[in-house]
Amino acid sequence: MTKYRAKRVFLCPQCNHGHPKREGKCCGSDPKTWIKFDSQGEYNRYWELRQLEKAGEIFGLELQPEYPITVRNLVGDSETVGKYIADFTYYDHTRTIVEDFKGMDTPLSKFKRKLVKAIYGIDVLVTGNGRRVR
Ligand SMILES: [Zn+2]
Repeated sequence: MTKYRAKRVFLCPQCNHGHPKREGKCCGSDPKTWIKFDSQGEYNRYWELRQLEKAGEIFGLELQPEYPITVRNLVGDSETVGKYIADFTYYDHTRTIVEDFKGMDTPLSKFKRKLVKAIYGIDVLVTGNGRRVR
């Protein structure tokens, strides 16, 4: 099985500069604080969302929201077996949107979205080339 690999981008949150690696010089900030984006497309989408936020069309933009995947067994004990991490969450003026930017969608991502829908009732919005798979 081949794994889809996109070029990562690291963003310095202090001065908003993008870096191809989590190293090098920036404004003096610690590279450990840089935010990782899995692809250039996801990074670009982040800037689009920042613009929308600036324009007042969305608000409360947050990165990489996490949703624990917890299951309960037949005797009622729960166990957290993993977590789903989306790329963005924000509010438009009517609801909370959880968005995943996908260069390419995968069966695992699709399955995780189904779990998030079942547990949290969240219909994840998929953007990017990875078209939404129902
Ligand atoms: Zn910087």
